[in-house]
Amino acid sequence: MALLTLRLRRLPTARDRFTGVPRLSVLSGPSGVGKGTVVGKVRSLYPHIWVSVSCTTRAPRPGEREGVEYRFVSSDRFRAMVAGGELLEHAEYAGNRYGTPRAPVEEHLSAGDPALLEIELQGARQVRRAMPEAFLVFLAPPSWAELERRLTGRGTEDPVQLASRLAQAKVELAAEHEFDAVIVNDDVERAAAELVRLIEAECR
Ligand code: ADP
Ligand code: 5GP
Repeated sequence: MALLTLRLRRLPTARDRFTGVPRLSVLSGPSGVGKGTVVGKVRSLYPHIWVSVSCTTRAPRPGEREGVEYRFVSSDRFRAMVAGGELLEHAEYAGNRYGTPRAPVEEHLSAGDPALLEIELQGARQVRRAMPEAFLVFLAPPSWAELERRLTGRGTEDPVQLASRLAQAKVELAAEHEFDAVIVNDDVERAAAELVRLIEAECR
């Protein structure tokens, strides 16, 4: 039986009907589902879509570059950013802090660029509250077993971290219904193309 790979709860409307400003899109989903991989595909195949670079207190993984996957900051710097209102949203996840710098998002939306955030559930909920017009997409695994395989296979977490991320994944999967659309990541290119179609969809 073919997997239903896209489920829509509301129609995407990429531009605000009144201001003409493009809406913000958010991609969320459990650790290991392939968010980074799909977003990497969006960056390479659809460079007109601006992807926010988050700040994190997590240490870089092998191959991660400062200012590309993340801006790697100290806990003190992160605290100062929160205190200064510099973050659009922020959350703690598996022992590290993550946040979206506000200014670049506002600049790109004002300039008319479609903008995408890749963030976890708490952050997605904060964006929903602050910007109800944002379009929230959940990236789902084809199955739980496949999610475990991907997260374990990535080999970037120790057993304690892995257990924490799998526990958190159960919480994230239970919140799928809060999102405007669900894309099943069984194929990276197709998932990226579906995401871009949702980001670009216009009011009719
Ligand atoms: P996340 O950013 O959601 O934590 P990653 O992008 O790091 O997840 O992907 C986790 C692992 O799953 C990586 O090893 C990646 O290569 C693999 N992966 C991602 N998407 C797919 C897919 N559609 N099919 C098979 N493996 C995938
Ligand atoms: P990782 O450590 O695997 O790169 O990321 C862990 C989780 O943090 C992922 O679910 C990722 O989407 C999320 N994340 C990355 N950047 C941000 C951010 O700026 N804000 C929030 N809330 N979550 C983020």
